[in-house]
Order: sequence, then structure tokens, then C-alpha cells
Amino acid sequence: MAREDPDHKLNVVIAGGGVAALETALALSELAPSQTSRTLLTASSEFVYRPMTVVEPFAYPSAQRYSLAQIAEDAGAQLVTDRLSWVEPQKQVAHTTGGLELAYDALVVATGARPQPHYKHALTIDDRNLDETLHGLIQDIEEGYVSSLAFVAAPRMAWLLPLYELALMISGRAYDMNVKPAMTVVTPEDGPLAIFGSAVSEAVAELLRSAHVDVIASAYAEIPRSGLVLINPGDRCLHADRIIALPELYGPGVRGIPVGEHGFIRVTPYGQVPDAGPVYAAGDATAFALKHGGIAAQQADVAAESIAALAGAPVTPAPFHPVIHGILLTHEKPRYLTARITGGHGFSSQFTETPTWSPPTKIAARYLAPYLDEHDHQTANAR
Ligand SMILES: Cc1cc2nc3c(=O)[nH]c(=O)nc-3n(C[C@H](O)[C@H](O)[C@H](O)COP(=O)(O)OP(=O)(O)OC[C@H]3O[C@@H](n4cnc5c(N)ncnc54)[C@H](O)[C@@H]3O)c2cc1C
Repeated sequence: MAREDPDHKLNVVIAGGGVAALETALALSELAPSQTSRTLLTASSEFVYRPMTVVEPFAYPSAQRYSLAQIAEDAGAQLVTDRLSWVEPQKQVAHTTGGLELAYDALVVATGARPQPHYKHALTIDDRNLDETLHGLIQDIEEGYVSSLAFVAAPRMAWLLPLYELALMISGRAYDMNVKPAMTVVTPEDGPLAIFGSAVSEAVAELLRSAHVDVIASAYAEIPRSGLVLINPGDRCLHADRIIALPELYGPGVRGIPVGEHGFIRVTPYGQVPDAGPVYAAGDATAFALKHGGIAAQQADVAAESIAALAGAPVTPAPFHPVIHGILLTHEKPRYLTARITGGHGFSSQFTETPTWSPPTKIAARYLAPYLDEHDHQTANAR
């Protein structure tokens, strides 16, 4: 719907400071620069490149951090450092915990998911302090104090890659030190990284086999006490000196916005929240089962296109047709994984040793990835 007043700018409030929010802001600055005014409402001051936190316990440099003030400025967005608290869809007002009332013509909720430990008797991965959590464990393995390890995914899988990356990197490090702990991944997936389709899953299974990591797939784990994993179905059990688990994710549950199961926000194929007026959502906050940065970015692109069209920009919104790209870090070289996702399954599955997308970054995102790539080059050149 084009606006009658040519000077009217559609006032877009984007809540969040992760992949989904930043991709939305950058996309709108390209698609509808003069037709929208943009506000980034974010609880943090930095964007943390979460996928690279997995290498921190192995004494690599910390994951990259970027100033949100700089990204907002480059996207032509006003930065408000506060938290989205609740929304009045009828009045089109977003309330912040700091007491601000932000009127909007379009609101994008991109506030991510809340990770919660699912197992009391396991070490649950938290990317805010992975180094602290796992550094001691890796030292214990290297010094031969750990003879068996289990890596367990909770029944509702959180992110896809970190459990496998940790298993492969820990195994590589242990074998380098000439210690050989028994290592097993327990996952509800039909096979390792099954969502990427059969070619990827079979190749990752082979990679794990050569790294001496066993996989128990289609399995729901219980951990009744420390060191014991019960595997359902099948009445099997596994004893492990240490158990590392992925957290389970819950949606942000923003008051005023309809949410589905576990607090996640349902969206239409065009990114809009049903029955909430011009409210859109993208990323881990949504009910889409796959939680992945590249998917968050594609959802953000869909929402941005819908909003650009609403603002009267010459854009024809395309519905969400997810394609998943992932870089699997291993003890040696990384592997590149790609698939199209339809009906919860991966097709056109590709496993390669060279990248098939550009720039070849861990989070594949049409606008954010080249932006960060350019930023990294400039920073490197300035040194
Ligand atoms: C260890 C690890 C490895 C991963 N590896 C990969 C990978 O290799 N490739 C890949 O594509 N994905 C990977 N992922 C997944 C990816 O990081 C997430 O899918 C992605 O970060 C989701 O982006 P998001 O913007 O939806 O949410 P988030 O990244 O969770 O960002 C949410 C943002 O919203 C802000 N916020 C929260 N509440 C509020 C509020 N009330 N008001 C305002 N702001 C708020 C937060 O401060 C944060 O800035 C990995 C994740 C982890 C943890």
C-alpha cells in the first residue's frame, strides 16, 4: 500500500540486536532508504558473532564483536538502547522496559530465543561463556583424566552445528595429545545434521567415524544422574565421565503479541505475525523449527521486503523459501554444507571442501555478511 503523502516515511521499529534485526535494518536501508525511517531498539551495545564462540575454549581469539551504534549508523537507523517490553498492536505502540513508548507503522520483533538447560546433570553449552565452561574440561581430557564423553542434544534441537563442531574439535585435540576418550553424540535427528539432506548427513557421519565419535541417532536422552545417559527408545544406556548438552530454546513471549507453543512467534510466509496488524518477526524468536543464523537472515529479508512494499518502494515481496548454508568447523579444515528446506526436510544436499556461497561466512546473510566482510577488511587494513 503506497502512502498518499510522498514525504511520509514509514516508521519502522526493529527490536533486537542480532542477525535478524541487523539484516532487517540493512535490507531496509537498501530496499526502501527514503521511504522508511528506521529505529533499532536493542538491549545490547555489541553484536557478537555467536558461531565463532565454539573455538574460544581451544585458545583461539574470541568471537568477533561489532559496535551496534556503528552498524545502526551505517544502516541509517536511530539506535535506542533499551528492551522491548510489551506491545499495543491496536495503537501501534511498542513499550520499552525503560518506560519509552515507541509509535510504529511497522514493528519487527527479532529478539531471539531464550536458551535454558534441559538436563540438570549435564554441562549445558552457553555461548556467553563457552571458554569458561569448557576450557577446564578440555584440559582434563588432554591430561587423560576423562575416558568417556557424551554430547547430547535436547529433544527440541537448539542450534545445529555447535554440538558436532565441539565433538570433532575435542576429539582432534585429544588424539593430538595421544589420549583416546570414548566419544558419543546422542541426537533426536535421523542422522547427524539430517536437516541438510542425505549427502551432507552421510558425509558428516563419515567425518565423525574417522574422528572416533560414535553417533546414536533418533534418540531421546534422559540424564537421571551425573554420568548416566538413558536412551529412548530401546532401553539402552551410556556411561560417560562428562556429558555436554545443548540447551533447549524458548521463544521471547512478548506481551501483546500472539505466541504459539513454547513462546515462539508464528509468522506468515511473508514474515507477518497473524492478527497483530503491521507486526513482523524474524529469527530464533519465530516458530520456524530450524534455529540458524542464515535462516534468521532469510526471514529478515522476507520481512524487510514486505515492509518495503508497504512503504511504497518498488519491491515485490517474495515468500520464505529457506536455503540453509553452514560451515562445519572441524579439528582440521572446515566443510561447507548446503540444502534447500521443504516440509522440514533438506533437498539438493551438498557437502563440499570449498565454499559454494559468497562471502563464505558462517552466517550466510544477503546484506549483513558482505557488510561485516567489508568492515573486517577495513579493520585489517587500518592495522
Ligand atoms: C555456539 C553457536 C554456534 C552457532 N553456529 C551457527 C553457524 O555456524 N551458522 C549459523 O548460521 N548459525 C549458527 N548459530 C545460530 C545463530 O547464532 C542464531 O540462529 C542467530 O544468532 C539467531 O539470530 P537472532 O537475531 O534471531 O537472535 P539472537 O542472536 O539471539 O539475537 C537477539 C538479539 O535481541 C536482543 N534482545 C533480546 N531481548 C530483547 C528485548 N526485549 N528488546 C530488545 N532487544 C532484545 C539480544 O540482546 C540480541 O542482540 C550458532 C549459535 C550458537 C549459540
